[in-house]
Amino acid sequence: MGLNGCGPVRHASRSTFCLAALDKFTAARHAPFMAFEPEASSPLDNLWQEYASIFCDWDDLTLGRWLAQTLGQLQGRAWRLSHPLVGAYRLAAKIAHDRQIWLKRIATPPAGYAESPCCRAPFLPLLTRDVRAEGLICQHCNEILVPFEDIPAEPREAAGSWAQAYEPVHAVAHWDDRQRRRAGNYDEAFEKAAKQAEQLLTRAGRELAPKLLDAYASVIWEDQDECLEVRPEDVTLGET
Ligand SMILES: [Zn+2]
Repeated sequence: MGLNGCGPVRHASRSTFCLAALDKFTAARHAPFMAFEPEASSPLDNLWQEYASIFCDWDDLTLGRWLAQTLGQLQGRAWRLSHPLVGAYRLAAKIAHDRQIWLKRIATPPAGYAESPCCRAPFLPLLTRDVRAEGLICQHCNEILVPFEDIPAEPREAAGSWAQAYEPVHAVAHWDDRQRRRAGNYDEAFEKAAKQAEQLLTRAGRELAPKLLDAYASVIWEDQDECLEVRPEDVTLGET
C-alpha cells in the first residue's frame, strides 16, 4: 500500500532527521558501527516517525515530484544541515530511497543535478568534519557520495586542511581520564575546544561549502558538533 519504509526503521539513528535529532543522525554518521546496534526507539525517534508520516501518506508520484521541486529550490546554495527545509527534504528522501523512487525514475530532478553513483538519486552532498575519511555523504542513501580524493582539487585542499585542524579540537570531547587530568581544568579545555569548533564550523559555512558549489548543484554542510555541544545557533555566519 505504498508504505514501504514507513514502519519501524531498522537503522533508527541513521534515518531520524530533525533539528535536535540531527545530533543523533550525525553522531551515527561519525560512528557508523553504532548505527547497527539494536536500540530502543526514543521519544525523539517516535516524534520524527510522526513527522515522517506525512510523507508516508503520499503516493510515489507525489513524493517524487515534491523532492524534485524542492531540489529546484535548494539549487545554487549551500545549506545548513539544521535548516528546516533541509530537514524535511532528508526525511522525505529517506522514504523515497526506501521506495526506490529515483531508481524507478518516477520524477525528473532539475537539470543541474547529476546522478549519484551510490543510489542514482540526484547528487546532494553533505560536508562533515570527517570529510578526509568519509568524503562527502549522500543525503539520499547516507553512503559515501564522493570519496575525498575525488573532490575537485581546490575545495579538496581547503576541506582537507580544515578537517585536519578540526581533528584535535573535536578529540577534546573524547579525552580519556588521563588526558583530562593532564589538562588540569577539563571544563576550561572543553569550553575552549567548543569555541574553536564554532569558528571552524563558521569557516565551513562561509568558505568551504560555497567552494563546493562550483562543482555541485547544491551542498549541505554540518553546522553543529554534538560531542562538543556546539549547536547550529552557536555557528554564526554574519551578514552575507
Ligand atoms: Zn546515495
